[in-house]
Amino acid sequence: MVRERLAPRIEKKPGPTYRRFFGGALAVVVAGLLLQTTTVPAVEGPSSKAKLLMGAATADITPELPAALTGFQTVRIARTIQSPLTANVLALESRQGERTVDQAILVSCDLCVIRPGIQEEFRKHVAVRLPGFDVGKLFLAATHTHSAPVLKQDQYDEEQYGDATQPKDYLPFLYDRMAEAVVRAWDGRSPGAVAWGLGHAVVGHNRRVVYADGHAQMLGKTNDPKFRHVEGYEDHAVDVLGFYDDQRQLKAAAISLAGTAQMSQGEGVVSADFWHDARERLRQRYGKGLCVLGFSAPAGDQCPHLSYRKKGEARMDRLRGLSRTQELGRRIAEAFFDVADVMAKDVRTDVPLVHLVRQVDLPQQIITEAEYAIARKVCADVDAKNERKGWDTWVRRLYGGVCQRYVAQQQGDRSYRLEMHVLRLGDVAIATNPFELYVDYGVQIQARSPADQTFLIQLASPLDDAYYVPTPRAVAAGRFSEKVMDNYSATVMTNIVGPEGPQVLVDRTVETIAALWRAPPGPSAAPSR
Ligand SMILES: [Zn+2]
Repeated sequence: MVRERLAPRIEKKPGPTYRRFFGGALAVVVAGLLLQTTTVPAVEGPSSKAKLLMGAATADITPELPAALTGFQTVRIARTIQSPLTANVLALESRQGERTVDQAILVSCDLCVIRPGIQEEFRKHVAVRLPGFDVGKLFLAATHTHSAPVLKQDQYDEEQYGDATQPKDYLPFLYDRMAEAVVRAWDGRSPGAVAWGLGHAVVGHNRRVVYADGHAQMLGKTNDPKFRHVEGYEDHAVDVLGFYDDQRQLKAAAISLAGTAQMSQGEGVVSADFWHDARERLRQRYGKGLCVLGFSAPAGDQCPHLSYRKKGEARMDRLRGLSRTQELGRRIAEAFFDVADVMAKDVRTDVPLVHLVRQVDLPQQIITEAEYAIARKVCADVDAKNERKGWDTWVRRLYGGVCQRYVAQQQGDRSYRLEMHVLRLGDVAIATNPFELYVDYGVQIQARSPADQTFLIQLASPLDDAYYVPTPRAVAAGRFSEKVMDNYSATVMTNIVGPEGPQVLVDRTVETIAALWRAPPGPSAAPSR
């Protein structure tokens, strides 16, 4: 059964309330629309009286070396910093007179994933320093660099961390640095303006390769006579938001594209990947103080690595004198430059800002008895070893997760709850999900969204293991087996949500955006604190 409610956890707890999340009259209007979306009145035009306040700040979140890195089957200890890791913060508030209409704090982090507990802990950490701001309206999103610190202490065997910076050292530092930047962005907010644009850059590629027998493999070889085609679509759109001060100087840029920042993942270094290179180029033009928020749109089946045409691309990089991350950063910056002057013709100061936070339950991928038997056998095999080596801990965790979910499902726990943020900023919708969501679902949201432009962010808010959300096509291209890489990213091993769940996610996202386009944007009451 699929259940979907508005912020149900918040309703149950004493203290924070439904009102805290939605605030006042607009909330009631929007909630009503969400409940009966087929019988709503016509859209009212955006209010012209709201004033947008904007603040931005950057935190250096580079770990002390050596540092234990996440994102691979085994822990890697980085002893080199290729580029600094940063958290980039955008604080937004809409006001009518002295009254707050709505608020948002977006934090783009050069991290792999926002592990469970991180966002919650960080909200608690920063809440006391943000009077007047509802921390439920702050979200963290990861760029998915695989060259960032481990955030879960038990991600790998602890003895392998040695003397490297590990989660228990890194998290307090991360929270302090990010909090300082969040407070600086929020306290520094001042009347500003926004513009939006749509550009293009080839950064992400579909990484699932299909062979003559119909099976698919992530980053499989293509110089193989049995190679037939790449599994699915790529989306090379670049959604851009520019934020300006009252002198029309560009202060912050938010950029979203269907590509994760994992080009430098094999190098065992600390790196913000291509976002560092994009930021460097953007700052050359707009000044050192420019805050650049990089986001990945749905890209679960995408990555920046090439499946074919590798030599030709490498030659072009050499001729340009650029590394691969520099080349991808160049493409992103060029996409921004390409639209910057165009969108500057339509800079707005009086846009509506509405920010909804929803808790959405999706149906879990149901694990069969046969799949449970496979997972149990793999776990037993690992447990029987005298010493764990190589991928053992990683394999044990993934197959162990399948066993745990099977048992929980047998006891009736068959849904997965996620946090979703949907914002209206002028004519732009911003919508988040926590997954590595296959690109088809992002395309579906784009196609059905009533907004002029839809800015999607994946890997936002807490994410458990098993976070790929595949298409039916990908699931059909292989099977779950004792071999960990068999149809990787499209079996129960890595899919807490299977191909049914994302249709619910798409529907909920589109219906929430639609509600914001039907509701008169603002005014609503100020938040509860
Ligand atoms: Zn990844």
